[in-house]
Amino acid sequence: MNRDAWNSHQWSSQKRQVEIEPDKPLRQHHCSNCGRDFVESLSGERWAVFVSVFSFRRLPDNVSARWLVEMCPGAPMAFDVEVRNKLMDHHAK
Ligand SMILES: [Zn+2]
Repeated sequence: MNRDAWNSHQWSSQKRQVEIEPDKPLRQHHCSNCGRDFVESLSGERWAVFVSVFSFRRLPDNVSARWLVEMCPGAPMAFDVEVRNKLMDHHAK
């Protein structure tokens, strides 16, 4: 786990508690610089998520792993938009 990368994000002070599975509360972290969203479980496991109006979707493991070690890019990345769009396309089918 790369703590520097995690701390390089500018976490929004508004932290949401979410539940994807019953009895498994997760803490949502949203970076106001790059717009990436992550969730953290009570046991400290973290992964990247895509947040839509209706749901949280877990990002593919390779994306999640990459985001967790990357320093905050400081602004929304084109790649991120692509990933989100792909998930949405997939969802629509
Ligand atoms: Zn960030």
